[in-house]
Amino acid sequence: MTRKFTFTNFFRSWLFVLISLSAIPPLPATGANVSVRAQPSHLVNGSPVLFVVKSVARLQSLKGKWLNHEFPFSFDEKSKIWFALAGISLETAPGSYSLELTGEKNTSSEPHREVTFIRKFSIGRGKYPKIKVNLTVENKFTEPTPEQTKQIEEGQQVKKDYLNRVTPEREWEGQFAAPAEAAISDVFASERIFNNKTSSPHLGLDFRVPSGTPVEAMNDGTVLLARPLYFEGNFVVIDHGQGLLTLYLHLSEFKVKEGDQVKRGQVIGLSGGTGRATGPHLHVAVRWQGTYLDPAKLIALRLP
Ligand SMILES: [Zn+2]
Repeated sequence: MTRKFTFTNFFRSWLFVLISLSAIPPLPATGANVSVRAQPSHLVNGSPVLFVVKSVARLQSLKGKWLNHEFPFSFDEKSKIWFALAGISLETAPGSYSLELTGEKNTSSEPHREVTFIRKFSIGRGKYPKIKVNLTVENKFTEPTPEQTKQIEEGQQVKKDYLNRVTPEREWEGQFAAPAEAAISDVFASERIFNNKTSSPHLGLDFRVPSGTPVEAMNDGTVLLARPLYFEGNFVVIDHGQGLLTLYLHLSEFKVKEGDQVKRGQVIGLSGGTGRATGPHLHVAVRWQGTYLDPAKLIALRLP
């Protein structure tokens, strides 16, 4: 049977050619129509980093890979940008590092087409104090008895179990606020020596506050820990989602319990001098996917 030449048959054969052509795998996307920015503009070790992506093509989702960490981006409907908070560990050496972005795009031929693009960012050396501070604390912190060593090990296990958590949902929104209005008494990454024995880098930020000062949540989140630990004293940890945690140490009193939802500015406890502290003060720390970051740099970021 011969096919009669009709317009319908002609159209069908061309439709077949078109479908076959569109089935050819697409060329790797170059990401030329994508702009990627980082804040702060000068990246250093120990710093948090906000990545902002603007894409001409409408993406369904976007994820990033950076310094062996993976993280999702959020879309801000108002400014039409994709954003994500990430970090750079204190141990990261200066150099050029790749941010690998994978977006999901809906096209008429493929509903979930993945596009991958890479941007390089240069990381410099952070300006951290080189001073060594000698501090005097109770002997139980530098020469623990076997019973105290057991408590120290229990604390280490709790930190191992909780402080590397990455919950998928983002709870933080907008700026991170200082947990207290007070002068800074010790900055991030200074080197402390306790009783001329134990050396320990300062992986947080100290606020000079007397005992009993209200301590506020730096952003919205869920209370992951609210319990006493050997070195930390009364210890509160807030999970802000996507691997970002804030830690509050040496408290005299808890105002929240584990599992509570908190809002930025909510009082979570009162400051004190519990645990390994030379006196009353507030020590706060920031962790992103298991890495300590400089809290002062997080507070300074302008966030969507
Ligand atoms: Zn401290």
